[in-house]
Amino acid sequence: MAKDVNEATAMKAKLAQFAQAELTTDVSTLPEAEKKAMKAIIKACALMDPIFDRQAWATYPEFRAELAKDTSELGQLKLAYFDIMRGPWDRQDHHAPFATETARPKGAGFYPPDLSAEQFKAYVKAHPEQKQALESLFTVVRRDGEGLKAIWYSEAFAQWLVPAAEQLKAAAELTENASLKTFLKSRAEAFSSNDYYQSDMDWMDLDSRVEVTVGPYETYEDELLGLKASFECFVTVSDPEASAKLAKYKAMLPKMEANLPVPDEVKTTRGSQSPIRVVDVVYTSGDARKSVQTIAFNLPNDERVRKAKGAKKVMLRNIIEKKFDLILRPIAQQILDESQLAHLSAEAFFNETLFHELSHSLGPAFVQKHGQKIEVRMALEASYSPIEECKADVMGAYDILYLIDEGHLEKDFRNKLLVSYFIGLFRSVRFGVAEAHGKGAAVQINRFLSEGAATYDEQTGKFTVQPEKLEASIEKLVHDLVMLQHNGDKAAADALLTGFGGMTPPIAAALSKVQSIPVDVKPSYPLAD
Ligand code: ZN
Repeated sequence: MAKDVNEATAMKAKLAQFAQAELTTDVSTLPEAEKKAMKAIIKACALMDPIFDRQAWATYPEFRAELAKDTSELGQLKLAYFDIMRGPWDRQDHHAPFATETARPKGAGFYPPDLSAEQFKAYVKAHPEQKQALESLFTVVRRDGEGLKAIWYSEAFAQWLVPAAEQLKAAAELTENASLKTFLKSRAEAFSSNDYYQSDMDWMDLDSRVEVTVGPYETYEDELLGLKASFECFVTVSDPEASAKLAKYKAMLPKMEANLPVPDEVKTTRGSQSPIRVVDVVYTSGDARKSVQTIAFNLPNDERVRKAKGAKKVMLRNIIEKKFDLILRPIAQQILDESQLAHLSAEAFFNETLFHELSHSLGPAFVQKHGQKIEVRMALEASYSPIEECKADVMGAYDILYLIDEGHLEKDFRNKLLVSYFIGLFRSVRFGVAEAHGKGAAVQINRFLSEGAATYDEQTGKFTVQPEKLEASIEKLVHDLVMLQHNGDKAAADALLTGFGGMTPPIAAALSKVQSIPVDVKPSYPLAD
């Protein structure tokens, strides 16, 4: 019994990491035809769940049914966590088992669970005629007597893909938007042909209030070989006002580059801009609805499509706002001086997230090394990612200050931005300084503290932002990062990360104070009911 009680306490702590979040949007201005199309799209997308369950683990449905029979408190807690993790292994803790004894098969449900990568490769080498099908993004691999066989997704998951295609076609009949109609039809086609190229092209051309991303995309679930794509979906609604604002900001990117605090010869003009969208999510399923919820995605992955049309970045505004309410605000209440709590702003947090993304396309992309033009990435090696994430954060804040200067945002947005940006860094650093975003955030916090741009009161354990000093520190850090990227100066990058990218006592104290605050959200979608 005592063991069960301890285990129940541990399961409750795991569940408390995820705050229940209702995700919806205002659809009152959506034409009736689009509302109806959206309903049919959601029906199609709900069918991605049973597919993903089986992709995550071949015996997922049987195991879950067994687990559901255990009506003890502990059994029910395990079931609740199973549904968030989409399986009996903890995605927040290196796949540690919590409802089973066995380890997670590396190849998830895509391969026979006992097949090793070496065996797979040896078999493929000996059977070149099967290579293409066995290695395809869109097949599962099964044993066939002594050998292996590939089964196309269209066949393996026909039970769900056939009705999903029918719903997409029904939605295509309902919508009055031509680009959506085209995509829905071609994606429905792909579910039976396993050829997603044309529908990926059509997805890039979508220009519709209701948009949907549905199909097999990411390969992270396949940790054996990284070959197999998982089914997922995002059904989203955009609001015309946010899109107009975004278009205005995007048009200002060249001005923002010109405004960087570096000599003119360091400033660049980047080539074609990839499209970016701001949307509210009204439904997700499959791979997109497990463990930590994404706040933005960048698709498609098909290089042929990327070459022809670039990739589209989609920002999920209502998820970002929920994370602000349920995570960032409680963090601020613990670690921000009370006098500044009023400045905390969801809009500022959203803008900082948006301009983080936009800032990835500002600043140097290439450096001259020994008379050769090479990518900054190559020059900075392992230090590139944390430096680039750090740059995107701080340059995002710098860009927003510029927008305020130019009169595009109210003057009182200044303090909202400075305070929300600074506290937002603690949300990132929670993910650890071993990871690029976390390390980049630590660099910013520690630099700002060392320059007095924020102060830490050891007595109260709270931070106070010094607005004027913080603005100066932001400008200085943008300058330093852009210059070291421009020079491809790996030694300077390493020195910055070593000097400031660590877990210092104020950060450690802050993190221990916010330990019980959720790390993510568990979504529910009223518009899908
Ligand atoms: Zn980034």
